[in-house]
Amino acid sequence: MADVIVLGAGIAGISACYHAQQAGLEAECFEAASHPGGLVSNFEVQGFRFDNAVHLSFSKSDYVNSIFLNTPHHVHTPNPYCFDQGLWLKHPVQNNLYPLSTEDRVACIESFIKRPEGSVENYQQWLIQQYGEVIADRYPLRYTKKYWGLSAEQLSLSWIGDRMRRAELKEILQGALEQRQDNHYYASQMRYPKQGGYFEFIKPLAEAIQIRCNKEAVSVDLINKIVSFSDGTTESYKSLINTLPLPKLIEMLTFCPEEIKDAARNLLWTRVDLVSVGLNQPQVPPYLWFYIYDQEQYAARAYSPSIKAPANAPDGCSSLQFEIYSLSGTPAPDPQALIHNVRQSLLQMEIADEKSILFCHHKQLPFGNVIFNHGMENLRDQILQYLNTVPIYSAGRFGRWDYFWSDQSFLSGRNAIENLLNDRKNSRY
Ligand SMILES: Cc1cc2nc3c(=O)[nH]c(=O)nc-3n(C[C@H](O)[C@H](O)[C@H](O)COP(=O)(O)OP(=O)(O)OC[C@H]3O[C@@H](n4cnc5c(N)ncnc54)[C@H](O)[C@@H]3O)c2cc1C
Repeated sequence: MADVIVLGAGIAGISACYHAQQAGLEAECFEAASHPGGLVSNFEVQGFRFDNAVHLSFSKSDYVNSIFLNTPHHVHTPNPYCFDQGLWLKHPVQNNLYPLSTEDRVACIESFIKRPEGSVENYQQWLIQQYGEVIADRYPLRYTKKYWGLSAEQLSLSWIGDRMRRAELKEILQGALEQRQDNHYYASQMRYPKQGGYFEFIKPLAEAIQIRCNKEAVSVDLINKIVSFSDGTTESYKSLINTLPLPKLIEMLTFCPEEIKDAARNLLWTRVDLVSVGLNQPQVPPYLWFYIYDQEQYAARAYSPSIKAPANAPDGCSSLQFEIYSLSGTPAPDPQALIHNVRQSLLQMEIADEKSILFCHHKQLPFGNVIFNHGMENLRDQILQYLNTVPIYSAGRFGRWDYFWSDQSFLSGRNAIENLLNDRKNSRY
């Protein structure tokens, strides 16, 4: 019997297993894929390396940085841009309206000055109150549908934090009167390994623990404390750590109250389809990443792996990866249609011509962002409270069902082990 079993070897599972081992526990991690890393792993196509979506570290945690930053890394200053209707605008758009016509700039500022006051109950109202109706309609309201797969009216406010720049008259006026270079992004530095992709930040930890790959958990018997895998094998455990998405985990439980199953069935999330492009040209637009507002272009965001680290592309070549989001429960997008659309985007944005495109590779990430639709927090808390009683210690972006960056997922793995140790100390379980 294993002392501690960890389901999933993404960054949260690796962290949980590592911290269990540090605390003197015998822990083993079981991963469905053929390699560890989950969202922070990477893949190669024709000598180009791509992460699973953008992945840069801007952690403010000294503890996380004391681990990540042992890896030789590049440091980038954020300089994101936005592409809309043929124009490149510096991010955030409301502070960089200069490329618009005088009439459009005046309309944006006038509406900002007349923006409504009062309490807000949904993201749509929040956007209009922050930026005024004209800016909100023109930019973030359109973008919300592309990124979240729902309208802003359907989203709550609990996820916003410092992710959205609050509007200030001075900044809006400065950016409307001249092209500014100020950094209004919520991080001042973005870090990325020099070689080997984002996973390098945690590779030494992954190498120090027991990870068994190609082990897809299919059921968890809570009474007898046994996990079954798709290859027909089973493992018994004393304590179980979960980093799998809550809807997946709940479906796997051999016994679970109906209201918890219902809560899990009602959670929404986005999938992310990635179209990774290898280019036979040394340069792409000089922006590490950029947002795409046009609705005809399916991708919401693109970034350049070869700007993150030149080692991600062969000499003389460059690369981009486009992220296309879709809502869980809707039909999966057709990969060929996505590739065709990305090719069109490359031409329309004048990034590359047909001759320079070496390949467009498609891959889907089944879980991207958890969705903060109204009432989600209640459903999630109901599920997490139930897991506490079982107990299953749940960690990670999808195990906590939260908008976690990789450092937060990492810390939540450590937190799960601290909770487990506390429970054992207090003979709770
Ligand atoms: C588009 C996008 C961009 C991002 N950009 C950044 C960024 O720039 N910086 C940053 O810090 N963070 C970023 N993040 C967030 C970061 O990726 C996550 O916080 C983190 O990787 C989540 O790790 P995790 O271990 O919780 O989940 P995951 O990485 O999803 O790990 C879960 C693991 O469980 C495995 N699994 C699933 N089902 C089973 C099963 N049945 N049995 C066994 N194993 C199973 C999966 O294969 C996976 O390996 C981004 C996320 C997305 C979606």
